[in-house]
Amino acid sequence: MLQEHSSTNGYERHEPSSAATHVPSYVVDLARDLPSLKSRYSEIPAHPMLSDLPILTKKDINSTRLDLISRARLCESGSILLGSGGTTASPKVSVLPSSLFMESITQSWSPLEVGDVVVNANNGGELGSMFPFFHLLCQISGAVAIPLGGLGTKETIDTWIDFLYETKTTALAGTPTQVAAILERLIHMDIRLPSLRKVLWSGERFNASARRVVEEYGQLDLYGVYGSTETWVVGYNGPACPIDSFHVLPYQILEIVDGSILVTTVHEECLNPIVRYRIGDYGTQSSCPCDSLDKVITVGKRDDEQIKFLSILFDRDEPYEAVMALEDVVEAQIVLVNLGSADEFMEIQVVTRDHVENSDQVEHRICSSFLKSMYRLAHEVHDRPERIRVRKVNEIPPNPRTLKTPVLRMESR
Ligand SMILES: [Zn+2]
Repeated sequence: MLQEHSSTNGYERHEPSSAATHVPSYVVDLARDLPSLKSRYSEIPAHPMLSDLPILTKKDINSTRLDLISRARLCESGSILLGSGGTTASPKVSVLPSSLFMESITQSWSPLEVGDVVVNANNGGELGSMFPFFHLLCQISGAVAIPLGGLGTKETIDTWIDFLYETKTTALAGTPTQVAAILERLIHMDIRLPSLRKVLWSGERFNASARRVVEEYGQLDLYGVYGSTETWVVGYNGPACPIDSFHVLPYQILEIVDGSILVTTVHEECLNPIVRYRIGDYGTQSSCPCDSLDKVITVGKRDDEQIKFLSILFDRDEPYEAVMALEDVVEAQIVLVNLGSADEFMEIQVVTRDHVENSDQVEHRICSSFLKSMYRLAHEVHDRPERIRVRKVNEIPPNPRTLKTPVLRMESR
């Protein structure tokens, strides 16, 4: 049975649990028309409901890489190819319409106005998605965009403070980590920029330490978006919403299946096969005290299939495979230490072939080769090299309880 929907912005509004929703055929075709996924759709009914369709994972989307690149070339209104991880040899691609759905997004979420001056502290290049997103948001909102990129060290941030003054910057756009790094320097110098009022954030959770920095700085309204490079923006929030809750855009249908969030995009411009796509987070239906009418989800922990380290997503076995592909590495284990906290880091434990080099040399060489392969990670840690540590060990001990040796494990220290 169809659920009650009201029409918004040309799209029907869906409950965040909508397995019984009929799916328009152009949406199913986004997946069915890709040769790499076709066989998964051979037995679905003519007018399927969501629950009739297979659940797609990040792995499924990765398998469509070449098909998606072909689809991008056929898109007459232009498209953008972005990356969400993978290695340099085989980046995981996401194909977005050149519009980035921005007209539709800003009908629900419009944090900027004419006169705003926005420092875009996301890194451009490297297939990154957040830089073009905030740049186009500025353009469509009539705001001034300042493409500073990730500012890196404290010294670099300090050199730009006068410029932020001069330009009367009103908003910082970046990951909570990047925004907090800038605010921390301002707090350290006991400076408050009189024009700065807004923070536009995405890419990672707004963790407690970044929140403390924002609070200490004071007087800032937070505007966030939730989604992934594949789904693009799924939900949004504003100053009156809880920081981990997001209103669902009218063209995104959300289901919660076994606690996991599944996303189906019913926007006509969509190019990626976002049809019951498991985004990689647990979530629950929720409510919000603000006056938005769009449905709300609260985003919980990451679900197990993917790991988010700093702001980078990857499959559990991806860093392990990258290390094992290196010459001289015999055995390896990835240890994510204090994952999800402000001081999280990755320790790569390696057993190497006998070698004349001392441990320091081996560790340094393996680290730089690993980062060459994991290009997104390399970009993320270029100013925080301490987040990736390689440790040469004599053996990788199995888990004493299961007697298994996982390729990746978490540890608190
Ligand atoms: Zn709200």
